[in-house]
Amino acid sequence: MRDAPTLTQLAAFDIRLHNINPLSPLRPSAGKTHEADAIIKDVNKRGVAHLTHEQKILALKRIWANAARGTAEEAARDKLLLALPPSQAFLADRDRRARAFAKTLWSDTEVKAAISKWSRLSDADRLKALQTAINLHAKAYGLPGYKISNAELPGDTLGAFDQNTQNLRIDLAKLRRRGPGWKSSFATTLHEASHRNAYALARKFVRDQIDKSDPRYRRAQIYALQAILYVRAKSGTDRSFKIYKRQPSEVDANAFADVVIASRGATAPPTPLHRR
Ligand SMILES: [Zn+2]
Repeated sequence: MRDAPTLTQLAAFDIRLHNINPLSPLRPSAGKTHEADAIIKDVNKRGVAHLTHEQKILALKRIWANAARGTAEEAARDKLLLALPPSQAFLADRDRRARAFAKTLWSDTEVKAAISKWSRLSDADRLKALQTAINLHAKAYGLPGYKISNAELPGDTLGAFDQNTQNLRIDLAKLRRRGPGWKSSFATTLHEASHRNAYALARKFVRDQIDKSDPRYRRAQIYALQAILYVRAKSGTDRSFKIYKRQPSEVDANAFADVVIASRGATAPPTPLHRR
């Protein structure tokens, strides 16, 4: 959440796609590697402003395929990852889906009842309401059912998407210490649910199951690249933390949670002008 970053900023995300084909569309095609290397060099010299989207993606593919951990490649990765804004078409599609889901979520009897007495609910009852939210999310986004469980998470981490099980974990004790309200628990859950959806899109991309004309196509490609090119948060003051927060999968997860939370109680039709 933009005005209360501590709610969700420390949620961990890591999509590692299993069994990636050596001919994966994430690898640069033969003959393009020299061009990619030249772009990487150029990024560290001149920045990214002059690059096209295709050039950025080509450089990221090269870094991805090398699973590069060199200083120059990491520096280029960070700059490139932060220079991939979502398209207007993607944002419009995301918000349309998010608002449709929000309508179902906030009108659910069980969710409504839980929110109305959140401060008095046990962890078990909180978890039950959050699982209901997850079930509705899975249904709205065409995902196989998945689970949320309560867990003690390291450091300041409030929630996590587990790449192996594709389930979510949430630290209810830590969230309880942050205040009696329902918002932080739902924001964290929604943030992680967005990662679950990103994972599904990344997998579709790798399997060539998403059409190029789909407004989510480019974002799915970026999510797939982020399976390896993901910047982990270290601490709130660390440089890596700032990059972590601004990388596409994190920006999108926070924005999704924002849209859904903001849609609660909204009666007026959404403004046709896009906010971001
Ligand atoms: Zn996250």
